[in-house]
Amino acid sequence: MKSFLDSKITSPLVHRLDSEKTLNFKKYQKKFEDLYKNELSSSSFKKSFFNIFTDVNACPYCNRNFINPIYKAKQLGKDYKKWSPDIEHFYPKSIYPFLSLSISNLLPSCTFCNKIKSNYDTYETCKSPYEMKDNDISFKFLPLDNQKRLISVESKNNIKNIELFNLDDLYHDVHSNYVNNIFLNINKNPIENRKYLKKFFSLSLDTQDKLYKKKFCNYYQERDFNKQPLSKMTKDLFFHIKENELK
Ligand SMILES: [Zn+2]
Repeated sequence: MKSFLDSKITSPLVHRLDSEKTLNFKKYQKKFEDLYKNELSSSSFKKSFFNIFTDVNACPYCNRNFINPIYKAKQLGKDYKKWSPDIEHFYPKSIYPFLSLSISNLLPSCTFCNKIKSNYDTYETCKSPYEMKDNDISFKFLPLDNQKRLISVESKNNIKNIELFNLDDLYHDVHSNYVNNIFLNINKNPIENRKYLKKFFSLSLDTQDKLYKKKFCNYYQERDFNKQPLSKMTKDLFFHIKENELK
């Protein structure tokens, strides 16, 4: 998607603050806006759209909030438009209207991230969740005292996702208790947990998956991170414990 945009960025279909293009741009923008509003915002489209993402339970931008459409609870009615999560355009439709209809540019998202992101131009600043790799964003746990750690979220390659979605503050302010409770439990039985770790890394990936889920109640493999909130942070916490706490 990024390389496709590189070739289109000087087109009149893109609004990049070039006043000569503004007239052309407005014309195209209106056409795409109407198409999006009339066709792709309909209830039937939304249902088909969210059916593509049945395995995505956590917001792909923050990995903090559940985003399941509420129509899974059938008794609550069929107003999919009202009860589904937000559909977020990674490249904003106000700047790249021709991408307002592209499935590669659309993602389900929590309302919080959709609102924070708004019309921010992500071209050359942020990485789409479709392109994100395991270690593009990582979590560090800095010692505050024997019992507590400070969560810090860091990114590789200068991508601005953390700043845009305010992830560092949000994780630290909201999820510190979750992290510190895991530390407390782990430190209660260091000998037993060292044995667990030693055994863990001698096992097959499938068995690791099961064993990890039992202890951390989350998913171990990157392919599953969108199935449950806080999965990426929990995995980084697991490796932090292995490398720093139970050496
Ligand atoms: Zn979110």
